[in-house]
Amino acid sequence: MQMTATFYVHLEFKTPTSQWSVNLPFLCSKCGVCCTLDDFLVAGKLKPTPQNSQAHLKAQILYEELGSLWEINPSKYDHHITHTPCPFLTNQLCSIYEIRPEGCRQFPNTPFGMQTQDCEALTRFKKQLLALKRGQTTTTTKETYHFTQQPLLSVQLTEEQYQTCTNKLQKTGITHNELTLFCDFNKPNLSE
Ligand code: SF4
Ligand code: SF4
Repeated sequence: MQMTATFYVHLEFKTPTSQWSVNLPFLCSKCGVCCTLDDFLVAGKLKPTPQNSQAHLKAQILYEELGSLWEINPSKYDHHITHTPCPFLTNQLCSIYEIRPEGCRQFPNTPFGMQTQDCEALTRFKKQLLALKRGQTTTTTKETYHFTQQPLLSVQLTEEQYQTCTNKLQKTGITHNELTLFCDFNKPNLSE
């Protein structure tokens, strides 16, 4: 199975008598809302490689044009970068997804990104996280963030606990694709 490249929260719960854990993945809906020129500029530069020379050249030309605009008219520059889509956004999809800058790769799992109100997938994700933690007040909860570039953390979760989690998630308005991904991140590791 090809695992979706994304970040996920690994939640661990501990009570005096039991211990269990679950993974909650974030699923980007690729809506393009976070892909303005401003977002691209703060995301970091593209690393030049033989495979992305065209994209790198396009970025270089862009930096030079924006540098000129900044020198001529800084306020026009500010308006331009915050109101213009990223030049690599095509039909609401990132045309350089595999080689996108590190900041784009990490978003919204960044201090700034987690504050954004514009990402509907992130708003749903935060509700899902709260729902999984709700009702666990007598337990110790540990919450850590990870990326799928590393081997997926295994979970300690029974079928019954998995069902409880999916019931809670369904009440948050989780989408079908998000629930499928949640299943992919947890079900193969269920304990008896
Ligand atoms: S706003 Fe959120 S869902 Fe939309 S492309 Fe950005 S990270 Fe993905
Ligand atoms: S490089 Fe891709 S992910 Fe990054 S802002 Fe541009 S379109 Fe969005």
